Amino acid sequence: MDRRNFLLSTAATGAGISALGGMTQAAKAASPNKEAEAKLRISCFWGFVPAEDDDQRVKKMLDWGFEGVELGGDGGGAKGDLKKRLDDAGLEISCLCWGSANGSIVSEDESRRQDGIDSLKRALENAGELGCGAVVFVPAFNGQTKLGNREIRELMCQTYPALAKFAADHNTKITLEPLRRGEAWFLRQVADGAALARDCDPEKTGGIATMGDFYHMWLEETDDMGAFISGGTLLNHVHLGNGRRRQLPGQDDSPYYIGFRGLKYIGYNRFCSFECGIDGDPNVEIPKSIAFLRDEWDKAEI
Ligand code: MG
Repeated sequence: MDRRNFLLSTAATGAGISALGGMTQAAKAASPNKEAEAKLRISCFWGFVPAEDDDQRVKKMLDWGFEGVELGGDGGGAKGDLKKRLDDAGLEISCLCWGSANGSIVSEDESRRQDGIDSLKRALENAGELGCGAVVFVPAFNGQTKLGNREIRELMCQTYPALAKFAADHNTKITLEPLRRGEAWFLRQVADGAALARDCDPEKTGGIATMGDFYHMWLEETDDMGAFISGGTLLNHVHLGNGRRRQLPGQDDSPYYIGFRGLKYIGYNRFCSFECGIDGDPNVEIPKSIAFLRDEWDKAEI
């Protein structure tokens, strides 16, 4: 039966309509709205909030409603005093924003790959010790490997299952960050990151995930709500920054409530972390931006 006759016959009996209705209900049952689990938990890089010393910085962060701190590097330097200071304040380390190991894990030069794997493992071990659930990782920025997209993907699917298990054994997740095409053609959209994380974790250890960065999403996604829903349970971190000039949320007309609808739908309760510049006095503008984000969160009805 061709498509036209199929539609005519099912319309005549009503079976087509009821079948489609049934599929919709099934889809809803399989993917329920998890809004009740969702929370807006705000984080930023250590040093993002200006202060005369670390005590003042922690106090401001708590006063302004921060719950987490994002660290650069592999986290090795944070295992002493900084970790204790944050623990005492009740601030969680939201992620290690680690980088790409110069693309070495997916290098065309096989002799470079093991060094990249070893350094990623060190970051994952440190994250585990720091109680940090995300090591943000970019497989390769543009120009860091001569391999093409298909070759990179195939190589990741061979290499990353063991790394995902290693991450899970250390209670953290390799968190793939999709970027704008000017930085990484290989991985641009949240759905790409989620599909890659799924394929790199055939044993379902949970040690690999993805994230969304509003700045990159503004350039690469067609719909922020749809993008985050595509991430689903594999969404492990969010970066905040406006589309045009990557400044604080609220400093241009970039909306956040659309993306927040997606975060609410999937019950997202991990961190949303500032990764952006600031126009004006940070002591004035950061609290304003947090208030803006909370308004957008409240506005994000689903
Ligand atoms: Mg980012």
